[in-house]
Amino acid sequence: MARYVGPKCRLCRREGVKLFLKGDRCLSPKCPLDRKGAVPPGVHGAKRSRRLSDYGIQLREKQKAKRTYGVLERQFKKYYKNSASHKMGAGLRLLQTLERRLDNVLFRSGLVSARSFGRQLITHGKVVVDGKKVSIPSYQLKIGQVITLSSKALELGEIKKAVGVKRTLPKWLNRKAVVVKIERLPLREEIEADINERLIIEFYSR
Ligand code: SF4
Repeated sequence: MARYVGPKCRLCRREGVKLFLKGDRCLSPKCPLDRKGAVPPGVHGAKRSRRLSDYGIQLREKQKAKRTYGVLERQFKKYYKNSASHKMGAGLRLLQTLERRLDNVLFRSGLVSARSFGRQLITHGKVVVDGKKVSIPSYQLKIGQVITLSSKALELGEIKKAVGVKRTLPKWLNRKAVVVKIERLPLREEIEADINERLIIEFYSR
């Protein structure tokens, strides 16, 4: 299945929550979800208020997580399979796998304002991990690894703007200027995503 290239706000409207897919716009009054009367997309969007089955609820949670992190179905299922029997618990492990993606770490550390922009930087070869260029957005970072941007990336206005914004970072990440270090694995309470991982595990365990 190809990557979704349609309007990003449509995905938020479908899930009924902010997925923060468009950077600064998501925090501005321009976000369609902040407007009164936001409805799901499609001609029947406004009428879609029927109660969901258990399956429907689990499916929506899975879709929400996939869309938040920008992961396709095949890869998401692979993440689930790899997490399913982990001693830490499948749900937490799944979230940690999503959080440790390189595109997500760029976003969480505030080097970029949206994961999609992080992905673009990575595929264009502008991200360096432990001194080596990495061009795979799904690259899984390990404890102790150090991430930074190439000098060309640092000239981009969007990067300068994002780096200039003061923000509180999750404690599992340590950032000094444009250098980010993975201190440890994220704890559940440090993963800000509004996701009920139990429902996702139930969806795939059916
Ligand atoms: Fe669009 Fe961002 Fe609002 Fe989602 S959170 S609807 S992507 S502006």
